[in-house]
Amino acid sequence: MKIIMLGAPGAGKGTQAKKIAAKYEIPHISTGDIFRANIKNGTELGKKAKTYMDQGLLVPDELVVDLVVDRVNQEDCSNGYVLDGFPRTIPQAESLKKALASMGQEMDYAINVEVPDENIIHRMSGRRACVDCGSTYHLEYAPTKEEDICDNCGGSLILRDDDKPETVKKRLDVYHEQTQPLIDYYANEGILRDVDGTIDINDVFAEIVKVLGE
Ligand code: ADP
Ligand code: AMP
Repeated sequence: MKIIMLGAPGAGKGTQAKKIAAKYEIPHISTGDIFRANIKNGTELGKKAKTYMDQGLLVPDELVVDLVVDRVNQEDCSNGYVLDGFPRTIPQAESLKKALASMGQEMDYAINVEVPDENIIHRMSGRRACVDCGSTYHLEYAPTKEEDICDNCGGSLILRDDDKPETVKKRLDVYHEQTQPLIDYYANEGILRDVDGTIDINDVFAEIVKVLGE
């Protein structure tokens, strides 16, 4: 099963993608995580990506597309995968479609997690990310067992620079301008499924399972 997660920054794409990956035993591919790992490791790609990410802008398409196409061609993706944070522009979606078509494949579902802008700033300012493994939590809605310590690996938690309110506002503008058009794009492709992202994390997941099947 090949799935795309759509939604504003902070809508819960990563949270749900991890649950989908675990239940359906497919890899979770987050372009944001890939860029953050590259930044942490000081790679050339990381250095380039950081200049855009810090400003709340999208990394240029040419730095993203090949990376994802290479990733989905790897052996562990043969039974499908869940894309989180990609595509984010129409050209990215077109490139993905073309690359898959050349292998006789297509995406199965684009799950659109709907959360109004009013909720997003609060979501993002409460999000905490592990510096070591990238796991995400929320101070109120998905707290760790021990304060500021990652449940998964024991690493310390931070507020991502791009989750500060000034940058979140910019990221929301960029989302509306460049990424939201993908909702119509995937509706036209016949694979769009909307879910309410404002309800409890487990209830959102239950809605997604209704779409994808047990
Ligand atoms: P995205 O990947 O879309 O940017 P995340 O999955 O990281 O978003 O979620 C953003 C923040 O909101 C995180 O701190 C997460 O724990 C929290 N969150 C996710 N889903 C919900 C929900 N249904 N209700 C409340 N908080 C949520
Ligand atoms: P995320 O973790 O998905 O919120 O992504 C964090 C940041 O990484 C975004 O604000 C962008 O700057 C960059 N990024 C992640 N995925 C993409 C993509 N598909 N296209 C362009 N930029 C991206």
